[in-house]
Amino acid sequence: MLEDKNTEKTSLAELGEFGLISHLTKHFKIYNSTTKKGIDDDCAVISAGGKETLVTTDLLIEGVHFDLSYMPLKHLGYKAVMVNLSDVYAMNAKAEQITVSLAVSNRFPLEALEELYAGIQLACDTYKIDLIGGDTTSSTKGMLISITAIGIADKEDIIYRNGAKATDLIVVSGDLGGAYLGLQVLEREKQVYQVNPKNQPDLDAYTYIIERQLKPEARKDIPELLKELGVKPTSMIDISDGLSSELFHICTQSKVGCKIYEDKLPLDPQVISTCEEFNIDSTMVALSGGEDYELLFTVPISEFDKIKGNPNLSIIGHMTEENQGMNLVTRANQEIALKAQGWNSFS
Ligand SMILES: [Mg+2]
Repeated sequence: MLEDKNTEKTSLAELGEFGLISHLTKHFKIYNSTTKKGIDDDCAVISAGGKETLVTTDLLIEGVHFDLSYMPLKHLGYKAVMVNLSDVYAMNAKAEQITVSLAVSNRFPLEALEELYAGIQLACDTYKIDLIGGDTTSSTKGMLISITAIGIADKEDIIYRNGAKATDLIVVSGDLGGAYLGLQVLEREKQVYQVNPKNQPDLDAYTYIIERQLKPEARKDIPELLKELGVKPTSMIDISDGLSSELFHICTQSKVGCKIYEDKLPLDPQVISTCEEFNIDSTMVALSGGEDYELLFTVPISEFDKIKGNPNLSIIGHMTEENQGMNLVTRANQEIALKAQGWNSFS
């Protein structure tokens, strides 16, 4: 579907592993004073300066988590960084370093890895992140990328999943379901292309949702916004597997129930129109579609005035006592039990 404009192909074997790493990383900058030593020794050295250190890792596998027939390598590199930063911001911490480990088969020339690293570098430059290490090796089939992100926070600022109280408000940033629908559009166009390669897809009506799928942004701005508003969430999580699944984590760990309202779920107009076209229920998409990388958090009810009306935030419901379970109030004012059926890469 996406044309390969890169005609030059350099075999990775020509460079060797050390040559490859230094070639791919030579233009990366160091942004954070906590980075004491980067790529050129046995270990990177980080000084947390009396703060807490947060660590998160994500592994992405070709054919399971991404499909290179519609995912440009530069976007893949960018997104692989975003999914990790998102987890750091979900703890109300500042992301500062990443390591990148990569396994590739010999079908990838150097130019392909340069594209991938261009995306990683764009993410690092945009979010002020230091690349401090990693590993590169060969795989017998396809590409695997594992990124680890490291962040820092003052102990008292860290927000866990287990602090929600029974009367807290439930708040979500941005809008939901776009990334999942973008994937549905890309999958459909891939099938059309396989039948007729001359058919050029017209994706103008889907630009927002495709961007949500191919180039998500981690919500670094939301913890900053909350600080400005003087609001400290009682619990927080990022929405990688779908709203229901993330609510389930908060409810289980905080030992509370929840009630959310169908008519409060934030949906982009393009999500609504594409749901109509695909004949899918937009509420299902908002609840179960993954990869939005928005933040879901709870705040004491006393903070209502600080949150309401903020264009970046939607109050979608409230927590309840644990014995009430997890429930959705429909537009018809019926209460139905929520299932934690998020995205599951094992299914
Ligand atoms: Mg997460």
